[in-house]
Amino acid sequence: MKYAPPVHVTGLKCEICGTTYKHGNIFTCPSCGDEGILDVQYDYESISAALAKDPLKNRAQNIWRYSELLPVSADIARPHLFVGWTPVYDIPRLAEAFGIRQFFLKDEGRNPTNSFKDRASSVGVLKGIEFGFNQIACASTGNAASSLAGLSAATGLKSYIFVPERAPEPKVTQLLIFGATVLRVLGTYEQAFDLCKAACEKYGWYNRNSGSNPFLVEGKKTAGLEIAEQLSGNMPDWVVVSVGDGCTIGGIGKGLQEMYELGIIDRVPRLLGVQAEGARPMVDAFISGKDLIPSDTNTLADSIAVGTPRNWRRALRQIKLSGGEMIAVSDEEILDAMRTTARLGAVFGEPAGVTGTAGLKKAVEKGIIKKNESALCIITGNGLKDIQSAKQAVGKALDVKPTLEGLVDVMSKT
Ligand SMILES: *Cc1c(COP(=O)(O)O)cnc(C)c1O
Ligand SMILES: [Zn+2]
Repeated sequence: MKYAPPVHVTGLKCEICGTTYKHGNIFTCPSCGDEGILDVQYDYESISAALAKDPLKNRAQNIWRYSELLPVSADIARPHLFVGWTPVYDIPRLAEAFGIRQFFLKDEGRNPTNSFKDRASSVGVLKGIEFGFNQIACASTGNAASSLAGLSAATGLKSYIFVPERAPEPKVTQLLIFGATVLRVLGTYEQAFDLCKAACEKYGWYNRNSGSNPFLVEGKKTAGLEIAEQLSGNMPDWVVVSVGDGCTIGGIGKGLQEMYELGIIDRVPRLLGVQAEGARPMVDAFISGKDLIPSDTNTLADSIAVGTPRNWRRALRQIKLSGGEMIAVSDEEILDAMRTTARLGAVFGEPAGVTGTAGLKKAVEKGIIKKNESALCIITGNGLKDIQSAKQAVGKALDVKPTLEGLVDVMSKT
């Protein structure tokens, strides 16, 4: 079956040279090579007219409420899984602990496979189907993989997943249960990424790698669109996001920008991008103003342990456009944020999930974020995905004999 192309997409524009290509199954700009990542362009006038006819407020509470702003053919059935429209919580106790005016959390762990990545994978699987593929692949530190496996199960695609050796066991198990073929690459994420790309060419699989597939970031964008709607009268001063490849923050920045252009919000929050000290090439590029230099990685926040970020240009462009900042935090600070977010906010994030929160704390201490400002932290993934790390943030359970005396004895020692 042939599908009509997405109606409001006008083309794909190269991040480096600005050349615009027709919508189609292409990845990077032929003249700029691997780094010439393409950005989906839309006709905002026609989108505006469509939204005026059928207002957002009447629509389903999932990412498909933004159909006109997504690069997906209207002919393809949406997966049954409920992706997006994750809650935003206003948490005074966290605001007080961090010393800011207002503190919001957006809990992305509530997505079907428990991370932000479901937004991207939803678009990825539909693009695969639209372009006539039956098989889809990705390389991932974990969450992109589990979400691709889940969304493939939801749409009947066969998935092949390349994971680096150090991917946490629960994440690998999550892939296997959804029926993915899992290829554990004895090497780094970068090596897994390159091997996946070569495999897609060899076997004719659709490549879901968000670093180079132009459509994936559009799925990530939906979190920015949602923030704009969920907090429209009360836009936070800052939106805080952890950064690996840079697609998440780049996408969220684009979504917020679009809602500004569509007149749904009257100002765009500043973006704070946060990396781990052990994987901070983008922070360094932000500070130096020069091209990114790949780095080694050494952090327990596996989902952002990216030494060669693919989408650094777009990420830095969006951060700068918003008047934003970047900052790096230590693994200790990440573990601390894991406890604080859970104990004061009652949301359990994985290490990369709370890296933003750790960065927010540091940014307030450094005076980057002011005491009278408000911030929204995106908790990008659920803590149960990586119990090994969470264990490092907590003490042990207390063993107690099944008698009241036994309990009194233990309680007297706490
Ligand atoms: C992928 C991921 C990120 C970072 O997204 P990038 O697009 O790689 O910058 C942050 N947190 C979690 C939990 C992730 O899975
Ligand atoms: Zn180009």
